[in-house]
Amino acid sequence: MIIKFEKVRQEVIDAGLEMLKSQLVVGTWGNISARVPGEDCIAITPSGVDYDTITTDGIVILDMDGNIIDGNKKPSIEYNLHLAVYKAREDVDAIVHTHSSYCTSMAIARKPIPAAAEDLVQIVGGDVRVTNYVLPGSKELGDEAVKALKDRNACILANHGCLAVAGNLKEALKTAFIVEKSAKATIFANIMGGVVELGQGDIDFMRDFYVNKYGQK
Ligand code: 13P
Ligand code: ZN
Repeated sequence: MIIKFEKVRQEVIDAGLEMLKSQLVVGTWGNISARVPGEDCIAITPSGVDYDTITTDGIVILDMDGNIIDGNKKPSIEYNLHLAVYKAREDVDAIVHTHSSYCTSMAIARKPIPAAAEDLVQIVGGDVRVTNYVLPGSKELGDEAVKALKDRNACILANHGCLAVAGNLKEALKTAFIVEKSAKATIFANIMGGVVELGQGDIDFMRDFYVNKYGQK
């Protein structure tokens, strides 16, 4: 095992354990990746392995063409999806793909999550769009996700789940949590008569505030 990949591999494992503990996935579905700092490659979870059994040498290091550089397992079937997003988005260094319950509800209804909750628009940048339907593991899924992610940090994969992207794994996980919470809130708001969306000016203000001023800057 190539030692310089050890740190990023452990970070991907830890994110997977957090995703499992938080019930954003059931079983082995979902997957996680991160760019390897300073290298033109990514670290991605292995395909179909329980999150609580993944070892560092099971996290697969891929080059940007999907060739295996290091690792003793098959990579996630969604490696093309992850690579397509990294190629299209220089600002993205980490990706979390979940099959969480409320996002799956939105995904099978093929309904976007409207830009209504303040934390959602701050972290995602607006509504959460739904991709056109394509099969899991297909190259086309990457193209569809890149389109749905334009100016956004998350999208719903039709009939499938959620894709959250960010500059690091902690933020990508946080984004996945907020999207899941917003999906749940949307469903409840619709039961109560509907969602009141925020205006674009307020969305832009809150996104700028979150990126540049919120927290201990
Ligand atoms: P992998 O276990 O190969 O990552 O597949 C799970 C999944 O979510 C496919 O979309
Ligand atoms: Zn999936």
